[in-house]
Amino acid sequence: MRSRSTARWKAGAICPELEAGPEKMSAPSVVVFDLGKVLVDFDYSIAARKLGPRARLADPDLQYLLCRSPLLCQYETGAINTAQFHRGVCRAAGFNLALEEFRACFGDIFAEIPPMIALHAELRAAGVPTWVFSNTNEIAARHIRRRFPFFSNFDGYVLSYEHGALKPDAKIYEVLERQIGRKGGAILYLDDRAENVAAGAARGWRAVLHETPRKSRRAVSDAGLLVSQL
Ligand SMILES: [Mg+2]
Repeated sequence: MRSRSTARWKAGAICPELEAGPEKMSAPSVVVFDLGKVLVDFDYSIAARKLGPRARLADPDLQYLLCRSPLLCQYETGAINTAQFHRGVCRAAGFNLALEEFRACFGDIFAEIPPMIALHAELRAAGVPTWVFSNTNEIAARHIRRRFPFFSNFDGYVLSYEHGALKPDAKIYEVLERQIGRKGGAILYLDDRAENVAAGAARGWRAVLHETPRKSRRAVSDAGLLVSQL
């Protein structure tokens, strides 16, 4: 769950590529949520502040190590496991922390985004299938599952570290399509990163750049998936 953001188009709504797609007329029947900055906010500086007093590495290098480094990329693609990531961070940061203590510091950086949790709950109440589609890691997923009850209420999860690929790699989009058994305009997809949205739109998904809860709610409502309006 890396923290860089590079929005390329505005106005949220539907990606322009969809206008010419053959799936334009398909009605979405499943909603796919990105996790970070869509359902939960996150702040790696929280972990950096907890770990900083023990580290040889100073900010901003410690934050880089925790939130944007090649080591995290390896972890989130599943190339290394939690124990290897833990050892790698300890070595690079210059501290010696037990794994469980490291988990507590590294994982506890999330907060729910209430209007998006409410939107998800409405979809569930309406019987709409929902999935999580996230670039993330085992520590984060375990923490979120234990801490936030909403996370247990999806039909399925496609998490990067379990599939060897990060969004926007086409490989992980193919995994999602296979698992949910749907393609193209049947999939309504919300993600806060433009490159991830573009990769979904290129496959004909009804891909929405999440910028605000209000805008995403409107997109879901316009797709005919909500009873109540704003
Ligand atoms: Mg995100």
